[in-house]
Amino acid sequence: MTCTEFQKVLPYIIDSDLTAEEHVHLESCRVCSNVIADMKHIAQSAKRLVTLQEPPARVWHTIRRRLERQEDVPRNADSRAWALSSVEW
Ligand SMILES: [Zn+2]
Repeated sequence: MTCTEFQKVLPYIIDSDLTAEEHVHLESCRVCSNVIADMKHIAQSAKRLVTLQEPPARVWHTIRRRLERQEDVPRNADSRAWALSSVEW
């Protein structure tokens, strides 16, 4: 299997198991194994970006309302954890 052949099937194998032939090429080819490593890195980074989405406005509203009523904070409570507790995202 050549690099060109391997990279042609790359979009189809990224989320599935490799055939024996693809596996052998990947083990022996630094170029294609680097391509796979880069794609996995990009996919992981993209997942982290998704989790960094801004929470809905109502979350901030609830936190602000709670912080404005500081007298409701239980004694010895971590106020930030308390403000975030039971806030529905
Ligand atoms: Zn290759």
